Amino acid sequence: MIEITDLHKSYKTGASSLHVLKGINFSVKEGELVSIMGSSGSGKSTLLNILGMLDEADSGSYTLDNFPIKNLNEKVAAKYRNKFLGFIFQSFNLINYKSALDNVALPLYYQGVARKERMEKSFSYLEKVGLADWAHHLPNELSGGQKQRVAIARALASEPKVLLADEPTGALDTKTSYEVMDLIQGINDEGKTILIVTHEDDIAHMTKRIVNLKDGLIIDDSIVKQVRAKAHV
Ligand code: ADP
Ligand code: MG
Repeated sequence: MIEITDLHKSYKTGASSLHVLKGINFSVKEGELVSIMGSSGSGKSTLLNILGMLDEADSGSYTLDNFPIKNLNEKVAAKYRNKFLGFIFQSFNLINYKSALDNVALPLYYQGVARKERMEKSFSYLEKVGLADWAHHLPNELSGGQKQRVAIARALASEPKVLLADEPTGALDTKTSYEVMDLIQGINDEGKTILIVTHEDDIAHMTKRIVNLKDGLIIDDSIVKQVRAKAHV
């Protein structure tokens, strides 16, 4: 599903340059649940943003579902992003003046899905994350965990091939984090390919494979025995 080779990325600010990714090689197969671990500043978000086509590497190759991701114009990139990728963020990134249902429906609106189908589909994804009763509430009427569930429903609504989550539990307390991880594990059990960036060891162990990033390089990449989040909720 994902294949990257010798990926490099530097940030240039004025005269100085910060080499953040120093030759990353890895691949992810369909159906995997992978965490990218590392301390703050190790380059996790940079890597995830490149995988999410929100940023571009300086060199190296990236193929997503066999499509080479290189020198795409913004229109093509947006189309690929819409078709292949769903995003989940630490800060939820919901639109505050839209209901939970309308937040979930927004990507479908951009895909040109007709209103009736859009609303039915969005509602069914809200049901899936356990929020059917909250469809017409605004984000500020929801708890952090509920907001992240809305964000997950929104990410799923466009039926992406891969879910990319940057510190999805970073703003949540431990119990709520595990509830969200339980949901993510369930979505992966159904076959979805999911990548999670986290700096938390317990969260990483709820995935099936931990890729350890340090100073811009992968220092370890191991299959782990998955800890089920449900047991800790
Ligand atoms: P992580 O997500 O692991 O905390 P990041 O990928 O966000 O790490 O950042 C890696 C390094 O790159 C950090 O030192 C950070 O300050 C720097 N960095 C991130 N984004 C930018 C940017 N847009 N411009 C300049 N430096 C950046
Ligand atoms: Mg980060």
